[in-house]
Amino acid sequence: MRHNRAHMSNYLDWLLAGLALCLFSVTPAMAQSTSPEKLPHVAVLATGGTIAGTAGSETQTTGYKPGVLTADALLKSVPSLGKIAQVSGEQISNVGSENITNDILLKLAKRVNQLLAQPDIAGVVVTHGTDTLEETAYFLDLVVKSDKPVVVTGSMRPSTAISADGPSNLLQAVTVAASPEARGHGVMIVLNDRIGSARYTTKTNGTSLDTFKGNDSGYLGTLVDEVPHFETSVLKRNTTSTPFDVSKLDSLPEVDIVYGYQNDGGFMYDAAVAHGAKGIVVAGVGAGSESLLTLPSIKKAIAQGVVVVRSSRTGGGFVPEDPAYVGLLGDDLNPQKARILLMLALTTTKDPASIQAMLHEF
Ligand code: ASP
Repeated sequence: MRHNRAHMSNYLDWLLAGLALCLFSVTPAMAQSTSPEKLPHVAVLATGGTIAGTAGSETQTTGYKPGVLTADALLKSVPSLGKIAQVSGEQISNVGSENITNDILLKLAKRVNQLLAQPDIAGVVVTHGTDTLEETAYFLDLVVKSDKPVVVTGSMRPSTAISADGPSNLLQAVTVAASPEARGHGVMIVLNDRIGSARYTTKTNGTSLDTFKGNDSGYLGTLVDEVPHFETSVLKRNTTSTPFDVSKLDSLPEVDIVYGYQNDGGFMYDAAVAHGAKGIVVAGVGAGSESLLTLPSIKKAIAQGVVVVRSSRTGGGFVPEDPAYVGLLGDDLNPQKARILLMLALTTTKDPASIQAMLHEF
């Protein structure tokens, strides 16, 4: 009898352990898959890029045609999305991201804000070419007026490539956008198992899969088995705590980037001013140094009311105050992100001190 009871209790232990194992190994996606109508609604806005690209063969990963697949085709290519969220797709543009214009940025940002204002929308995913993905992500980071998750994703390999990364990146992006713990992190960049902030994440390699890095600031988190794990957060102001309002804008001021190099000439600055630039970002050598050959033109631009911001072409580090050079300090923003912030800053003020404060705070 004692033996039987012990046997019985062993059996019960195993049963309970088995039940617990089942419960704990159910992923959020599996748990949700039982009632699809209760899944969060994620809107996917497609803009083009390699994630929507097709090539002639499965080994071709360069020289293909970006922006071919439509938003609907992209969503259909990842059936597992239906276990994570109710997804709807919209086409904003279908271009390689080198062809994303200010008009497309404004159209996209306005639509993101409209969607997030709807109570039934949990989050938004933007699919995008990777080349300028960080610029669009940072633009949205500064103008989205909601703390609901907004995730920008793309892929390095076209949809036709063997081991294409688009489907997995899209699934991970939707997973993060549907996740309540992703709220309040600002706009995020999700590719290759990593969750990065729009403020810090940058494309570091033209062809490698593992190209998006947070450099000195790292990542916000990671996805493991399609479950997001958040580790850090960004201190810079974004989304609801910026003063930028795109709702009434139909254009953005021209801001150009001029690259620094040995024996560079001031004529590039003169040309930008003549073309109508309201702001110029210097992609300076080192910590934003300006050469003696360019300084007269940069000073002339500033005297004409053009706002000049010094940044670094190195891809990292802060730009320090230096009496030898002129212009505002671009903090640790890379030139392309400093341009995005300067465009938006110029929609609110021309006052250099106010713009300098924004360059430090956002
Ligand atoms: N040229 C492409 C683009 O940015 C590259 C990519 O998407 O990976 O649209």
